[in-house]
Amino acid sequence: MVNFLVDLNDPVIKGYLINLVGEEGYKVVANMPEGEVTDEKIAQATGVLLNIVRRTLFILYENRLAGYRRERDTDSGWLTYLWKLDLSNLNRQLELEAKKLLKNLKTKLEYEKDKVFYICEKQDGRFLFEIAAEMEFKCRFCGGELVFEDNEPVIDALKQRIEKLEDLTSSSGAAA
Ligand SMILES: [Zn+2]
Repeated sequence: MVNFLVDLNDPVIKGYLINLVGEEGYKVVANMPEGEVTDEKIAQATGVLLNIVRRTLFILYENRLAGYRRERDTDSGWLTYLWKLDLSNLNRQLELEAKKLLKNLKTKLEYEKDKVFYICEKQDGRFLFEIAAEMEFKCRFCGGELVFEDNEPVIDALKQRIEKLEDLTSSSGAAA
């Protein structure tokens, strides 16, 4: 069972899942009974409302993190959907997410390196030099003075995040 290899408490995995299915949805994933189960059983076992369970299962299915099998009840003729988690795609999904994020961060880094910013002394606004000049260096929100911002810390923070993500994506790429 691949599910056991996935650490649902890992902050990256947890964050990804919460982003995908919400806090309640995460509860469904974390407390999902083993084997094939109906949505009603899942709602019972997890204490999450049935409609949220259904929504969660649908999102997981769309992202290939859950599958179902239909079974017809021989007496009633009704179809029962039996659900099962399949988190084997999770690492692949995370890798794709990380690559997307990496690209955004790199774009942001170039932007930060390229531009000059002015900030409000009261910290409620941050503006490009061109915009600040147009506003005659008065804050749009409070009227306070705008001062030059040394954005080196922003750039450093971005570089660090990029470096970490690059480590992460290259190591998972090697493992795959
Ligand atoms: Zn201000």
